[in-house]
Amino acid sequence: MNRSLDAADVLLVEDNDGDALIVQELLEELGAPPAVVRAHDLAEAREFLADPSFAFVVALLDVGLPDATGLTGVTELHAAAPGLAIVVLTGHDSDELAQRALQEGAQDFLRKDRIDAEHLDRALRFARERARQTEGLRTSREELARFAHLVAHDLKSPLASVVGMLDLLEVQWTELTDSSRRDLVERTQTAATRLAELVDSFLALAESTTLEDRAVAVDLDGVLGWVQGVLERDLAAVEATLVVSSGLPAVQGAVPGIRQVFLNLVSNAVKYRDPGRNLLVEVHAHDPEDGMVEIVVEDNGRGIRDEDRESIFELGVRGAHGSGAGVGLSAVRHVVEEHGGRVWVGDGHGPGSRFHVSLPVAVTAAEV
Ligand code: ADP
Repeated sequence: MNRSLDAADVLLVEDNDGDALIVQELLEELGAPPAVVRAHDLAEAREFLADPSFAFVVALLDVGLPDATGLTGVTELHAAAPGLAIVVLTGHDSDELAQRALQEGAQDFLRKDRIDAEHLDRALRFARERARQTEGLRTSREELARFAHLVAHDLKSPLASVVGMLDLLEVQWTELTDSSRRDLVERTQTAATRLAELVDSFLALAESTTLEDRAVAVDLDGVLGWVQGVLERDLAAVEATLVVSSGLPAVQGAVPGIRQVFLNLVSNAVKYRDPGRNLLVEVHAHDPEDGMVEIVVEDNGRGIRDEDRESIFELGVRGAHGSGAGVGLSAVRHVVEEHGGRVWVGDGHGPGSRFHVSLPVAVTAAEV
């Protein structure tokens, strides 16, 4: 049998050589025998679990180990590796022991004197299935946390604009002329409307199922127009210019996600501008190739150090001058990759940063 140990997903914890041999022989009888690593006691089991070259899914655990009395082995193994499915092996026929083993975190219970290949096979299959479900739950929880971060991150800036303008109105009410008051109220209304649109985008994202279900032809001219509207105040405040090449193509994707990608890239350009010159942000696209189109978002800001080019896309990582939570670009990468595309930092023509985003070309006429 030519199964390498680093592919092992079953950890057999058994001090008795005879019992270990029986279990190993039974496992060999299975249709697709798993690769097994044997530990002689709990301490050795812990060492194997801590070794990153293994990815154990199931532990077959003897309850009579020299360094664990009663069910402490189950408790400790469960604490050391909560995702590991534990199948208890025992010589006793006791319902009470079985019950307690399950309470301590074991998933199944096999009597050594009655164990056969069929029981073992079933126990391993159930254990693997449970491990798969647990992993699925963990991924959903991570997705949810990522989503919560994202909502907070994207709502913050327009919300701060609304609050800022309302504060200004309150403090300077008597000094302001009628027309500047009206102007401020109108701008607050616009910012609040953008906020409501963002909330709608997030709701759509939360309710949506798969990307294919949500994907439509998204007109990038429209998306960049929307971004310009959301960031109007920020761009004006620093006298920035956003130049979008005409005739950007339509891409196949989900509107909230695509909007979020370009909102993040342009707002980063504003955030990381060089105060020594007026900010210029340019967006253009290359000719589509093999069903993908490459869009370039370029600015003349502070630029990105070569050594930061990869890491800035990781969650929570900030680069030089980084001032946020390091969430934006990881969200950008997530959305782009979900669409089957890629995002990377390219070489700029002079100072500033150059972000390249490849996305699938729309398969139908643009709706949005
Ligand atoms: P945040 O802005 O919250 O720190 P991001 O994930 O949006 O997080 O960006 C990560 C890092 O990438 C930033 O901290 C910044 O150093 C760098 N960065 C992003 N966009 C630009 C840009 N247009 N110009 C210069 N640096 C940038």
